Parts: sequence; structure tokens; C-alpha cells
Amino acid sequence: MRATVMYGAGDVRVEEVPDASISEPTDALLRITRACICGSDLWPYKQMPADSEGAPMGHEFIGVVEDVGVEVSTVAAGDVVVAPFMFSDGTCDFCGEGLHTSCRKGGMWGRSGTGGGQAEAVRVPYADGTLVKLPVAEDDALMPGLLTLSDVFCTGHHAAVCARVRPGQTVAVVGDGAVGLCGVIAAKRLGAERVLILGRHTDRTDLALELGAADVVAERGKEGVERVRDLTGGEGVHAVLECVGLEQAFQTAIGITRPGGAVGRVGVPQFDSLPGAGLSFFHNITVSGGVAPARAYIEELMPEVLEGDLQPGRVFDSEIGLADVPGGYKAMDERDSIKVMIRP
Ligand SMILES: [Zn+2]
Repeated sequence: MRATVMYGAGDVRVEEVPDASISEPTDALLRITRACICGSDLWPYKQMPADSEGAPMGHEFIGVVEDVGVEVSTVAAGDVVVAPFMFSDGTCDFCGEGLHTSCRKGGMWGRSGTGGGQAEAVRVPYADGTLVKLPVAEDDALMPGLLTLSDVFCTGHHAAVCARVRPGQTVAVVGDGAVGLCGVIAAKRLGAERVLILGRHTDRTDLALELGAADVVAERGKEGVERVRDLTGGEGVHAVLECVGLEQAFQTAIGITRPGGAVGRVGVPQFDSLPGAGLSFFHNITVSGGVAPARAYIEELMPEVLEGDLQPGRVFDSEIGLADVPGGYKAMDERDSIKVMIRP
């Protein structure tokens, strides 16, 4: 079968690999029908040291179950399913607490003996815990939205939950990438009265406005903080969704939070210590967030995507075949595309 393998910065290849197959009684074998490229895939694309073994890529996908191990009971051959961006057993104490990303038996796609999702097929460990059945056919028009349940919409939702978004609040989203755009949808869904988006790519901030944002702040750093304060009567916002992961973005997030507010961070941090410690201390700002337990949110968010009330699938502005995946990475890295969907 064909799969995407990264061999170093800028070196992504689609090549023949051994066919995925069931090896444990709790596994399922999935034929992948939709996958995508994540903003987090761009970090290794920028800086991964050359590695002759290569790393299987892709952690967001929907597929059709081809076969299951003898202990699998919740999905069967022919089912259309979505996988969250990490696998988990669904039975340990952390899974019970809704923190599937810390599952005692869980792990990342493309590591621990599994392949990645930017491929024709994948072995799914702990299929009962990991997979969620979708009540649609494999070519349903809602596929883009449903694919965002794998990661990007659940991650935006996690940012909003961790930022403690409540009805009537003013909320800021730092970052106009696909996660930030999903954060706008999530904040509105939780009742935010007014959402500000901080970003400087007009195609993306225009989409944010269509998705429910009221104001765009293109300034960065100190100027961005001042602009948000101007827009909020000098106060700052109740809740900030930090969807970038760079030090300056986090500093901005702290700077625009009103006293007693909260920052939900979901941008993978490219720094070691949290900036703004003094300000967040004296303003009693809660800093929360982290890697989103997508599996905990899929069932909650899926109905509104199926009903068409929420349209997180609008973050996809490009669709390619598996052979074109290297070009998809390039397009996202050069910001020619917000998010690329793959039909293997
Ligand atoms: Zn678990």
C-alpha cells in the first residue's frame, strides 16, 4: 500500500510500505477515505533532522472498517468511522476521566508500531476505545466537517473549554489557522457574545468573520494588546484561546486577558517556559489547556456537525490525492492553503 513518510525537514514522500494488517485481537483495519495535513505536521516539516528510517505521517482520518480482531465489539466491517488524533483503550482511569490523551495504553499514530493516517490504510489499536462510528455513507457531503472531529475542531473546542468560555462573554482567539477558526466556532457555540480574532492573513480572518467573529486584530505584540484593549473599553477579554504555540502569541494572550479571566492554550508550545508569569499572577489569570482529548468530545460535537448547524469543514480550502501530499505540505507551509484534505 502507499503511505506518507517524512525523512527530514522539507522531505515528505509517498511510497510503497508493507500493507497494514491486524496484529492484536483489539485491532481494526481501516481503509482510509479522508485524511488531512495538520498544522502540527508543519513543525517537523520545518525542522526534523534527516532520518533514513523516516516517520509515518498523518493523525486525522476517516475510514471504512475492513476487518476487526476477535475482541472488537463496537465496530464491524463496513462501518464508516472517525479516529481521534491519538488512540486510546477507553477503559483505563484516564480515559474514564475524559483525558484519553493520557491513556495508559494509548499512543500516537505513526509511532508505537502503527502507521499514519496519510495513507491508504492503517491498523487501529484498541478499536473499541478509539473509533467512533459515523451514521453516514463514506462519500457523504458532510465529510469535511466530520473529518475535523478527528482533531482540529475538537482542539478548538478544547481551547474554548479550557478558557472557560461562558454565555455573554467577550472572547479572543489568537491565531487564524484552522484551529483558531474552529476556536471561533467553538466559542460562539459556548455562548460567547463577541469574538475577536487575532491574525493577519485576510483570507483567514475574512473566514473567521463569516464563522462568527466580530472584530479582526491584525496587529501583533504590544500593538495587538493595545488594540484589543481599545476594542474592549480598556479591559481586555474574559477568555483567550491561544491557538499558535509561539512565545509572542502566548505573551499576547496573557496581555489581553482581563483580571480573573482564563487562557486556554492548544498551540503546541515552541518554547520551554511560560511568559507573562508576573502579569498572570497579579491579574489572577488562569492558564489551562494542552493536548486536546479529542476522543472525549467527538460524540458531543458530532450531532451539530451532522445537522449542518456547525460548519468546521470550511477550514478545508484544498483537496488532493495521496500522490500530491508533498505538494500539500508545501502549500500549507507557504500559507497558500489553510488546511488540505486528502482523498487517498
Ligand atoms: Zn485509556
